[in-house]
Amino acid sequence: MIEYYGKAVYESIAIGPVHLMERHAKHITDEKSGDISAETAKFNSARESAKADLQQLYERTLARAGVSQAEIFSIHMMMVDDLDFEDLVMAKINEGYNAAYAVQSAAEELAAMFAAMDDEYMQGRANDVKDISGRITDHICGSARTIRLEDSAIVVADDVNPSEIVGFEKSKLLGLVTSKGSVSSHMAIIARSMSLPCVVATGVKMDKSYEGKTGIIDGFSGKIIIDPTPAQLQEYTARLNKLIEEEAFRRSLIGRPNTTADGRTMEIYCNIGKSKDVAAALENDAHGIGLMRSEFLYLDSSDYPAEDYQFNEYRQTLEAMGGRTVIIRTMDIGADKKVSYFNLPEEENPAMGLRSLRICLERPEIMKTQLRALYRASVYGKLKIMVPMIISVDEVKWVKKMAFDVRNELKAEGVPFDDKVEIGIMIETPAAAVISDDLADIADFFSIGSNDLTQYTLAIDRQNSRLENMFDAKHKAVLRLIKTVVENAHKKGKWVGLCGELGKNTELTGFFAAIGLDEVSVSAPYVLKVREKLMQVNTAEVDISKYI
Ligand code: PEP
Ligand code: MG
Repeated sequence: MIEYYGKAVYESIAIGPVHLMERHAKHITDEKSGDISAETAKFNSARESAKADLQQLYERTLARAGVSQAEIFSIHMMMVDDLDFEDLVMAKINEGYNAAYAVQSAAEELAAMFAAMDDEYMQGRANDVKDISGRITDHICGSARTIRLEDSAIVVADDVNPSEIVGFEKSKLLGLVTSKGSVSSHMAIIARSMSLPCVVATGVKMDKSYEGKTGIIDGFSGKIIIDPTPAQLQEYTARLNKLIEEEAFRRSLIGRPNTTADGRTMEIYCNIGKSKDVAAALENDAHGIGLMRSEFLYLDSSDYPAEDYQFNEYRQTLEAMGGRTVIIRTMDIGADKKVSYFNLPEEENPAMGLRSLRICLERPEIMKTQLRALYRASVYGKLKIMVPMIISVDEVKWVKKMAFDVRNELKAEGVPFDDKVEIGIMIETPAAAVISDDLADIADFFSIGSNDLTQYTLAIDRQNSRLENMFDAKHKAVLRLIKTVVENAHKKGKWVGLCGELGKNTELTGFFAAIGLDEVSVSAPYVLKVREKLMQVNTAEVDISKYI
């Protein structure tokens, strides 16, 4: 039996076989192997694996976004089998080079040839060549991560990024343990939204001997047990059964209003990443979507998601919510949510760097595509648009002007849209909180992003696991800012919610209701937990001064 600890991300328990997920760094050299037939076999087998990946991507994209978006993957599949490419690779292998180097250098030659052509379409093929060769060399070097699980398992990894965690087959992923990571990262936020027993930052290197052994994740204390004793197994099985019973009680609150014992309503909405997450929101009786993190569409794509693809996602979300409010946030790429095709610069402080709206200010076409997709979808439900990382009134004016232009453009094209869609902002920087009185004049609503508001107010990187004990979202400075924001919004008759992780903290449900917050938005597993607490609150008895 082995026990170790990390930081608990989601309060639940998992019991099951351990599966190690390893990532090997890709290190390609021009070393000669000399074994032509072995290198040829490696090349051929990696080609087959790359084609299988592409087939899967093709099918997923076809189902979600239609044939025109999926087409790129069928082109890539054809390129993997392209005879010119094969000839170039085989020439290098026949010269004695190792397969990875042969693929990489052949791709470079081919890409340079495409890039030098006059035709813009052919120039574009240079990137495709690099993309497919990267996929093939990933397989040759074993750096591709398998996220297909054969059987249900507790996955143990060094680190998992946001796009990888969504790639797992939900029904087979019992729990997740990582050596690195932090409880405030986006990976952790997704784990919570999946109700996934999860512990991060164990600092323990993966040990191959754990593979296949029984593991236990205690998502309350952060304890990991490998190869438990019979007594431990019995104890945790009993605790797991109790959790299942408590969950059954909470489900009896479905259909009840989000009202305190003294009759004050504070809506409880749900945070989601993509349209498929609406099912969990509805299962947990969320009265709306308080935050759709639209950047997940970008994280899940190998190129900028096209207007039609986005439109379909937003439309599906709005339709599935059947007339309930859906707040969709414009993309918040940057910091820990990176995508290679954005070609963002390496930065000293990415959380304080070119992220989110700041990228759009430099590349307005990104915002424009997104706004067009959002307005087109607006006729299918009750949409509100929300903009993250605001620090000034001018930024809000910039977005509103662009929204105005987009509406005019759609009108001229005869495309229907709802011209009453509200445009709100996130209050997640101290600057926005401090000038929230001015911002309330121009924004239609506020939603407080307590994760970033804590990070920037306390100057504690939300990704830094060593500072986690100091990442205190209940710090008086943060709670005072929240109260000020609520007051400033209400003075101007504006609605104000909170969509950061703090909303799920039931120790604060009374405080939030007492200061008059209109809504909290939490991930699906917390909707009924917060409702259970809210129903017990009597706001007249809440001593606000105790919190601030
Ligand atoms: C926040 O900062 O609180 C928030 C909701 O946005 P994100 O966690 O996606 O940065
Ligand atoms: Mg944020």
